[in-house]
Amino acid sequence: MDKNAFLERAREGAELIKMHIELGHTIRLVSHRDADGITAGAILAKAIAREGGSFQLSIVKQVSEELLKELAEERRDVYVFSDLGSGSIELIDKYLDFATVVVIDHHPPEREKFSVDSHLLVNPVPFGANSVRDLSGSGAAYFVAREMNRANRELAYIAIVGAVGDMQEIDGTFHGMNLDIIEDGKELGILEVRKELRLFGRESRPLRQMLAYATNPEIPEITGDERKAIEWLRARGFDPDKHYWQLREEEKKRLHDALVLHMIKHAVPKEMIDRLIGDVVISPLYPEGDVRHEAREFATLLNATGRLNAGTLGVAICLGDEEAYRKARKMLDDYKREQIEARKFIIQNWSMAEEGEHAYVFYAGKSIRDTLVGIAANIAINAGLADPEKPVVVIADSEEDENLVKGSARTTEKALAKGYHLGEALREVAEKLGGEGGGHAIAAGIRFPKERIDEFIKLFNEALAKQVAGGKDSED
Ligand code: C5P
Ligand code: C5P
Ligand code: C5P
Ligand code: C5P
Ligand code: ZN
Repeated sequence: MDKNAFLERAREGAELIKMHIELGHTIRLVSHRDADGITAGAILAKAIAREGGSFQLSIVKQVSEELLKELAEERRDVYVFSDLGSGSIELIDKYLDFATVVVIDHHPPEREKFSVDSHLLVNPVPFGANSVRDLSGSGAAYFVAREMNRANRELAYIAIVGAVGDMQEIDGTFHGMNLDIIEDGKELGILEVRKELRLFGRESRPLRQMLAYATNPEIPEITGDERKAIEWLRARGFDPDKHYWQLREEEKKRLHDALVLHMIKHAVPKEMIDRLIGDVVISPLYPEGDVRHEAREFATLLNATGRLNAGTLGVAICLGDEEAYRKARKMLDDYKREQIEARKFIIQNWSMAEEGEHAYVFYAGKSIRDTLVGIAANIAINAGLADPEKPVVVIADSEEDENLVKGSARTTEKALAKGYHLGEALREVAEKLGGEGGGHAIAAGIRFPKERIDEFIKLFNEALAKQVAGGKDSED
């Protein structure tokens, strides 16, 4: 990608925001409700405060026409969107034409530019970035903040927590401009990247649970069976109650070797085994054993606040609020329990999935919370329920509106090689169904009227069929 051209754009965004701070305008921040959006919002809030400016921040699920109407009624001078907005260029032009708007995002944009002169898009995708590997929303916000003031490099760890929340290092390493953020963080001594076991729970889970709850990859015979995990660990001389962070380097290595051997014995495909070890980011800003010490656990904590409608609590945590952290720790247990329930539900009921020529569609009704359908779709792939070359959509009833359903589509790099772009497919289908859809090639979402699920299944398969026939290669 053309980094310098992107940084130049980030500088323009920074200058615009600073100008409004100088004019004494309150900056209206709107950010997305996942870990990436929460960290992006926190980074911008901190950068504005550092310049002596004031802001008002909302954490939202998505940009919709209703939201833009409400924001327009506030009649602000300046609006800044982060980790969302690129899919709504036309709507933003239409409703906020009276104000300065800066969209700082990494989703493939609907158009490369705004039509309204006072609107600016800061997005790495038109500069050649892959939207799910090279930079997250928090990363884009980080570069704008860094252009506002070099002192904002201290936010590098928070930026990487957002990237990890979006799974930008899913293949085991960081890419693109994420590497520049990591360099900044290393230079300041606020983060460290290690090659370690990537299973969830480095800080907070005893080894027996780290293994028994492993889903990415799953460990044959051990995932889902804590007794087995205990036995397996004891037989190899590990204390099942110890946490991974407490192991000596030599013990970590021995554990990695034993796990790899176990997976080879169970004929796990190489690409799944390769996921076991990879980049793990930790920060000396927090004590060992603290959820915030490791980026994936930190991101999951933030996702928990967002999905339980307390995203601003997540922002407070990023800004160092200890009381907010203690509150959120309690939410995390519920969030994890819900994930485990969702996993059970989809595994037990997978036979209900409608398998079409190009996609699986699984309708979960009210059995899976609408904010967990993306995770459920990934579970269907990782647990081997779905053929990994076929995209999966999991749909649940919307929590806000009983006439609507929310769907999340997920797939793999292998499937993308066929020419699929889930974000484009869902955008197209949503238009036909009277809903809203969009997102990345590999991960996308949609909302549409509940009575049109059957039509959705047909239209989505058709849209994907067209993409394959078109044979155009898409990479973001
Ligand atoms: O809204 P946003 O861009 O921040 O979210 C990206 C989504 O894509 C996340 O839900 C993330 O987990 C998902 N993702 C995925 N597989 C990848 C990369 C991202 O499911 N390989
Ligand atoms: O919605 P998105 O895909 O961003 O969700 C990311 C969250 O889902 C992370 O907290 C990650 O830990 C979790 N996840 C999961 N099981 C998977 C994949 C992701 O619980 N198979
Ligand atoms: O990205 P990855 O799938 O490794 O993320 C682990 C996620 O799995 C965490 O969010 C964790 O809370 C969740 N999870 C769990 N137990 C399961 C399945 C998922 O805790 N059985
Ligand atoms: O909602 P879900 O987690 O499935 O979204 C996956 C990705 O698609 C996220 O990056 C989300 O921001 C994006 N998305 C979008 N437009 C929509 C719905 C989802 O860009 N209407
Ligand atoms: Zn994002």
